[in-house]
Amino acid sequence: MPFDSTFPPLDIPEDVDLWSLLFAGNQRPFPANKKILTCPETHGSYTWSDLREASINFGRGLQEQYAWKKGDVLAFYTPNSIDTPILTLGALYAGAIVSPSNPLYTPEELAFQLRDSSAKALVTQPAYLPTAIAAAKKASLSLSRIILLGSQDASDFPHFASIHPSPSSPPQPVLSISPKVDPAFLVYSSGTTGLPKGVILTHYNMVANILQASATEGSQWSWSVDKQLAFLPFFHIYGLTCCVLLSIYSGWETIVLERFDLAKCLSAIATHRITFLYCPPPVILAFSKSPLVSSYDLSSLKVLHSGAAPLTKELTLAVWDRLKIPVKQGFGLSETSAVVCCQMVPEWKEFMGSVGQLMPNMQAKLVDPSTGKEETQEGELWLKGPNVFRGYYKNEQKTKEAFSRDGYFMTGDVFRRDGHGNFYCVDRLKELIKYNGYPVPPAELEGILVGHKDVADACVVGIEDKALATEAPRAYVVLREGVTANPAKAQELVDLIASKVAPHKKLRGGIRFVDSVPKSPSGKVLRRLMRDQAKAEERAA
Ligand code: AMP
Repeated sequence: MPFDSTFPPLDIPEDVDLWSLLFAGNQRPFPANKKILTCPETHGSYTWSDLREASINFGRGLQEQYAWKKGDVLAFYTPNSIDTPILTLGALYAGAIVSPSNPLYTPEELAFQLRDSSAKALVTQPAYLPTAIAAAKKASLSLSRIILLGSQDASDFPHFASIHPSPSSPPQPVLSISPKVDPAFLVYSSGTTGLPKGVILTHYNMVANILQASATEGSQWSWSVDKQLAFLPFFHIYGLTCCVLLSIYSGWETIVLERFDLAKCLSAIATHRITFLYCPPPVILAFSKSPLVSSYDLSSLKVLHSGAAPLTKELTLAVWDRLKIPVKQGFGLSETSAVVCCQMVPEWKEFMGSVGQLMPNMQAKLVDPSTGKEETQEGELWLKGPNVFRGYYKNEQKTKEAFSRDGYFMTGDVFRRDGHGNFYCVDRLKELIKYNGYPVPPAELEGILVGHKDVADACVVGIEDKALATEAPRAYVVLREGVTANPAKAQELVDLIASKVAPHKKLRGGIRFVDSVPKSPSGKVLRRLMRDQAKAEERAA
């Protein structure tokens, strides 16, 4: 029997699109002039009604000036900005599908996403133009389809503020969106195997996850008292759902940092009297260890919430011992619109190490991956729920492989469940590596390595870096006959990868030369054996 969520079920509307959930109707418990997004550097901020109005303007501007059609994809290549939500939600207002990407991507990585998603326009910032232009050219996206946000420096490219309907234009008919069918976001994830794929998150998926998270995690925060600090990237589902969409829905003020920087983070907490924040484990590590932490007043912080990668009990306790701030944990994936499980604040100590309980309206199974048998305590986590994605974009095969015959999404993560309904992450079956919470698809790095003239075969696995509270990618490489394995060759391959991918995918775990990569009779790489070997090497080191 599957496990049902222990939370009371929610009524999730099937006819409400994401923009309307946030901005239509009059159900908000907070005033329309409530400040929602603030930039600590420029001191600029947007209220709920600013966001509503600006997103309508941008959406109507897209329709009028860019002949935007329902289902056209708008890609994003930008660090966090308080403007990003305006363009994101404005695009949704115009019926767009939003596809965000990492602003540290190389031109090749960005071009892949632009091509794969058939993006019709690209949003970026002036400082990111060189890569954006190079990628647009590679993906045959006209440069006239690049739109800027952030500073309004003189540029040949239009700033979003100039994209609005003309005063004389008649009101447009309201777009008809089918929330259960129409995608709102196309976020990229490698899933359990292979290269990054577009994860189709429908309006209904996103509406559901906001309501699920709001009824649980969000119910602990008050719009009139609490403030969050957001440095999680808005291009990743964790930041997008928890920092942007949940804030607008809940009326929390969110102080937005472009990216994580410890000194800026601590200073913003002290200045803005931040009460909670979402982060990955390496940030928890910084709170537990960095001498800088002692120089700031963190007394406003009620809790730190960790997600995106496993958090150890040791780190949780280290922060508590040093700062007396509880650290709680959640779990989610791109394919589940983010949140699957979440600890509530009081649970952090009693169920330390747990990621909490299943969101409302979700069901889970724990399945033995070798027998396919349902287990009661531990196994691969399979999920059903309104927040579970529709499939991978233009990839029926991978979509089919991601779901069980009875319609469960098979996460590739191994979990244990206790008698109270709390889940604990035990292991990961899938290839994915997470560096500082950022996904690293091994297949991408292996593809680059085997493209080198001296490399016969390669397998990339994650090694645990306890000191930095993260995994790091390591490559096991088989050289072609006659090529000498030496430190210079290893450095050459490390440099090759560094030149081709975003910084979080670098081979920080180094290179090991091997005679062969273990394979099954059907030729499938036996990654588990390589991971075990990597673990043994780490223990011996
Ligand atoms: P992404 O699609 O980038 O959000 O990555 C999802 C994957 O991150 C999951 O399938 C897990 O492997 C991992 N993950 C997320 N949160 C946690 C957590 N709290 N503990 C362990 N792994 C996590």
